[in-house]
Amino acid sequence: DGRKDRLGGKAATPTATSTKKADPVTFLDLNLSDKTIAGLTKSKYTKMTEIQKRAIPLALTGKDILGAAKTGSGKTLSYLIPMLERLHKQSWSRVDGIGAIVLSPTRELALQIFNVLRKVGREHNFSAGLVTGGKDLQAEAGSIRHMNILICTPGRLLQHLSETPDFNCDNLSMLVLDEADRILDMGFAKTLNAILEYFPSERQTMLFSATQTKSLSDIARLSMNDPEYVAVHEAS
Ligand code: ADP
Ligand code: MG
Repeated sequence: DGRKDRLGGKAATPTATSTKKADPVTFLDLNLSDKTIAGLTKSKYTKMTEIQKRAIPLALTGKDILGAAKTGSGKTLSYLIPMLERLHKQSWSRVDGIGAIVLSPTRELALQIFNVLRKVGREHNFSAGLVTGGKDLQAEAGSIRHMNILICTPGRLLQHLSETPDFNCDNLSMLVLDEADRILDMGFAKTLNAILEYFPSERQTMLFSATQTKSLSDIARLSMNDPEYVAVHEAS
């Protein structure tokens, strides 16, 4: 990668610090786009949380990620940053359609994610929509065709995929299953499987949850490609 050696880019000198690159600690230690850095800075995010330190660098390489970390550990930015970077690198624009989808178990969570995206993604030009069934289906159908990023609840997304004319996710580049354990707990397994049928297999998938269960590994096997497992267990 293009990361500069912090000691000035000289050839390795025989000191302890120069033999190994330091692990990233702040968002500035990652090779993020200026637009993402500006969004993070304006949102006052500087140091990464543990799950962010481990998941973001891996996700930036394009790998599928299976992430487990407790509530409040900062999972949202762990996938939103790689998402923004991926679309940015792919020069995603309005005409490219839906580039990324986040599936959330509830409307409330979807709204929270949407608000974080609006903050950290403010310098990017991607259009983003919230698809959670609170609004009139026809009104929603009119606008989602022009979106690049959707934050959705599973039932409403499947409804649009199966019923809304001219709406498709054929170009989808990244899929995120947030709170995947709760998505399954709420009985969305069949809905999720049906949704996956509409997505191209050539994509990056990130799955985050607070717990690991057998049914989650089934979903992972079904929806992911050789995922990297990233778990953060805090000492209690
Ligand atoms: P989770 O999804 O794991 O429950 P969230 O992504 O909702 O966690 O983050 C929990 C809280 O931590 C939020 O208030 C969020 O703004 C804050 N937070 C997340 N990442 C950072 C960070 N790198 N620095 C400071 N605060 C952060
Ligand atoms: Mg969360």
